[in-house]
Amino acid sequence: MAESRENNVKFVIIGGSDAGISAALRARELDKSASIIVALADGYPNFSICGLPFFLSGETPDWHRLAHRTEFEGIELLLWHEAVAIDPAARTVVVAARDDGRKLLSYDQLLIATGAVPLIPHIPGMNLPGVHSLHTMDDAFAVYGQLHDRAPRSAIIVGAGYIGVEMADALVHRNLEVTLLGKATSVLATLDPELGNLIGDELRRHGIVVKTDVEATGIESMDCLRVFGTNGFAQSTDLVLVAAGVRPASDLALKAGISMGQKAAIRVDSSMRTSIPDIYAAGDCAETWHRMLKTYSYLPLGTTSHKQGRIAGENAVGGVRHFAGSVGTQVVKVFDLAAARTGLRDHEAIAAGFNPLTFEITAWDHKEYYPGARELRVRVTGDLDNGKLLGAQIVGHWRAEVAKRIDIFAAALFHGMSVEDLNDLDLSYTPPLSSPWDPVQLAAQAWCRKASRP
Ligand SMILES: Cc1cc2nc3c(=O)[nH]c(=O)nc-3n(C[C@H](O)[C@H](O)[C@H](O)COP(=O)(O)OP(=O)(O)OC[C@H]3O[C@@H](n4cnc5c(N)ncnc54)[C@H](O)[C@@H]3O)c2cc1C
Repeated sequence: MAESRENNVKFVIIGGSDAGISAALRARELDKSASIIVALADGYPNFSICGLPFFLSGETPDWHRLAHRTEFEGIELLLWHEAVAIDPAARTVVVAARDDGRKLLSYDQLLIATGAVPLIPHIPGMNLPGVHSLHTMDDAFAVYGQLHDRAPRSAIIVGAGYIGVEMADALVHRNLEVTLLGKATSVLATLDPELGNLIGDELRRHGIVVKTDVEATGIESMDCLRVFGTNGFAQSTDLVLVAAGVRPASDLALKAGISMGQKAAIRVDSSMRTSIPDIYAAGDCAETWHRMLKTYSYLPLGTTSHKQGRIAGENAVGGVRHFAGSVGTQVVKVFDLAAARTGLRDHEAIAAGFNPLTFEITAWDHKEYYPGARELRVRVTGDLDNGKLLGAQIVGHWRAEVAKRIDIFAAALFHGMSVEDLNDLDLSYTPPLSSPWDPVQLAAQAWCRKASRP
């Protein structure tokens, strides 16, 4: 248990989203004497950008409700203050205030929590009016403005990852005709194609034109926008949304001489310290320790950002806390389905030197005799050499506890359990919600049978 302390630390945080605010809150909680300043380039402290698709779909019509919190007692927030330089020798940060020129902030401890920026493909037409990316509140307001002011009838989404599919769903809610372009052979390429194809079918069932194996090559402005892609793709549309992934916003750190790691994310140790003393990094700008691969990777997620920020905040005021690592757990809702994964898939496990077997079952989410039972597709990956669980993927109805079930696998992975060990877990059961053997355990049993008789 962390103790409270009184060190009179001057803790400056660059970035006021998941990682930055988590750090500020933790530091405030532990050290009442610390002076905590959060400088953020925008005016939306601690807003849930994960909620942007639901604001744009109209399901959460008031964007103010995306704020994770609105009270920041004891934390000084400098809104619209962009950090432009860090001088580690002088322990200062230069910030450019939108209305107030440049200021110098001195620090004892500094956290860089500048997040990520969208990856914009190097193809012509990305700057045309009507072509959007989606990462910040302002990005969302730009899309919202076009939806309201110009009433577009159609949209093309470039990128079929989780933001692409969420936005496809969102724009169908807005009655747009949507085409989704993905360069892989199935959508949601973070899942095995067998499950990614289920999501592709769900998108098509809602009228979306899904084009896999198509990479956008350019956009031209005519009466409307015309998008070109590989495999002969050419289509006109009113709105383009580019959701091609993100890269770490690490330029500021790089300029300050801080070492970089995976995919140009800031290199950190388990206490979230960078290569320069008294400077921490957390969230989407930093690397993430992958607990299963036993190496650093780049896994930009809100869940990880909150954890890393909290650890950096604790350590900045004298704590000793380590980030235990991620196992790559994710879930996304697409219309009536949810798709989730944790751990490693076959090809990732092979690349890491494991000897994986993946086996899939279909199981009812609860006893079939109780109304509303729905089928879940559960894929388990385990190591044939020692029976250890390596990963799992689930697709099913979004009310069928897909997220809860992937979290059981995630907890098992975190603790290095074997697939067989899952059967020993004391999981809850009542017929409307599960079965005496939960689908997680049925999948584990099926995997063990298969592994013993390959
Ligand atoms: C549409 C969308 C949906 C998502 N859905 C999910 C989801 O369902 N689940 C999930 O786990 N994750 C999701 N994510 C990812 C998640 O939102 C991010 O991992 C998380 O927001 C990262 O938090 P962060 O604090 O590291 O950075 P960010 O949220 O990117 O925030 C960066 C902060 O730094 C500030 N900043 C940047 N540069 C400077 C500078 N030079 N000076 C001062 N301030 C600066 C910005 O103003 C901002 O306050 C989603 C992301 C998007 C865009």
